[in-house]
Amino acid sequence: MNVTSDHDVLVLGSGPGASVLAAVLARAGANVLIVAGDSHPRHRPGETSTPILSWLLRLLAARYGVPEFARLADAGTAREHVSRRVGAERSIGFVQGGRERRVALPRAAASALLYRQDVDAYLFHTAARYGVRVRQQVKVAKAEVTADRVLVTTVRGETYSARCLIDASGRDSAAAAALGADLRDTEGPRTRAVHTHLIDTGLAPMDGTTHHLFDGGWLTLSPFAGQDGAVNPVTGVRFTVDADRFPREEDAEREFHALLKRVPKLRLRRVAAVQPWFSTGVQQYTRTQCAGDRWFALGATAGFTDPFLAGELTHEFQVVNALAWRLIRALAEDDLGAGRFAGLVALDERLRAAYTSLTADFRQALTDPSRLDAFVERWELGVFHATLRLHDATVSLPDERAARACEDLFPEDLETLREMTPPVFRSGIAALRETGRGLTAVGRLRAAARTSPSPEVRRLLLAATPDLVRGRL
Ligand SMILES: Cc1cc2nc3c(=O)[nH]c(=O)nc-3n(C[C@H](O)[C@H](O)[C@H](O)COP(=O)(O)OP(=O)(O)OC[C@H]3O[C@@H](n4cnc5c(N)ncnc54)[C@H](O)[C@@H]3O)c2cc1C
Repeated sequence: MNVTSDHDVLVLGSGPGASVLAAVLARAGANVLIVAGDSHPRHRPGETSTPILSWLLRLLAARYGVPEFARLADAGTAREHVSRRVGAERSIGFVQGGRERRVALPRAAASALLYRQDVDAYLFHTAARYGVRVRQQVKVAKAEVTADRVLVTTVRGETYSARCLIDASGRDSAAAAALGADLRDTEGPRTRAVHTHLIDTGLAPMDGTTHHLFDGGWLTLSPFAGQDGAVNPVTGVRFTVDADRFPREEDAEREFHALLKRVPKLRLRRVAAVQPWFSTGVQQYTRTQCAGDRWFALGATAGFTDPFLAGELTHEFQVVNALAWRLIRALAEDDLGAGRFAGLVALDERLRAAYTSLTADFRQALTDPSRLDAFVERWELGVFHATLRLHDATVSLPDERAARACEDLFPEDLETLREMTPPVFRSGIAALRETGRGLTAVGRLRAAARTSPSPEVRRLLLAATPDLVRGRL
């Protein structure tokens, strides 16, 4: 067999998780090749971002020495260094029966609303600048594991060899199928999505993603247009519906128009798509096997749940954060057996279960305002809590303990947090959002810190409050 080239790590696919991991490994001295079936720039759905996602990017930047990731964490730096076409995620809204609840994100935690074609290209170029070799427009047909290598063969018959394969080529991965990792259904909610980008919708300016709820689903609007300093005229639109009640239709555009009738209060000046209409089947799946000797399935290759509130990208970056240092160590010790990945597979499953339960909770709230209030509060507290933990881990570097401790940060922590957090914590957060009330907020949060039964929350609150006041969080 003629081997075209040999590397330490072969990364299949060039989505965000693939590029971030490849850049980190190359930065650590590994010889990395990305092989992808498409080329950049290309459109992908998935604009919504949250402070958790931003803080993960900051943590990855600091922990692995790739400052380029952190530029994406903030709308201002992303517009300056990545693309003027990204937006700002200053608040996240939920509209139900004409009533809107908006979660205002702490001012300096405003994330960048992701204009994916530019963001994905930026991350891919970052990987290439750190020395990752790239082969685009190359389709992989199969993969096999030998005693000391993984061999990946393309449809054109070229073979690439590597000590390890990270498969980030998604649901239809030919490599994963060849390695015996079949798709399987998951338990829990089954949703579908219909997505595109619209131009000139005529909607009132929004300063972040908004969800319009209805019986059976919700419409997510991600506005690049109409924001301060915006140069991008598009709005990302995505219907997410119960897959059993709304089976896939042949014509995605017609389905979109039919679903739009379920949000009668939303008036669009025109429905003019500037990306292909895109509709999915049931989104949720997992695999019978997600790792083996010398290979690991990353992100959507391993499984998928609903990408609600940036859950998919957040989940993928969390796994990259936990995978990268283990892989660097495994390469150095030349031990890439399946055992190296066992803990990561478990982490991946726990994260998927947690994000699935978040979506399930939200679905319960679609027609019930009191449940929506509870959901929004839980999510808001969770964002705050996760942001504090990630912030804490980032400022504690190079001490690795804090970074490792937040690798399995779950939305489930929120329930526990709500139980153990006194009401003053909530009112402290509320006060933080009111202009000129910073000092009151600090007082309240410090009071919460003193009375919280949890040493961890006490420590985090005390550590975080000065930064909150200065608006740096
Ligand atoms: C409708 C929808 C809405 C979403 N909304 C959000 C959101 O709001 N927020 C969020 O965080 N996430 C969202 N997501 C999820 C997000 O888009 C994905 O998590 C993200 O794109 C990463 O996926 P990926 O890297 O696996 O896939 P992709 O970005 O599609 O990358 C797959 C890569 O694998 C390559 N590939 C595939 N097959 C082969 C082959 N045989 N040989 C070689 N290369 C191959 C492709 O060329 C490509 O480079 C959404 C997803 C969908 C479907």
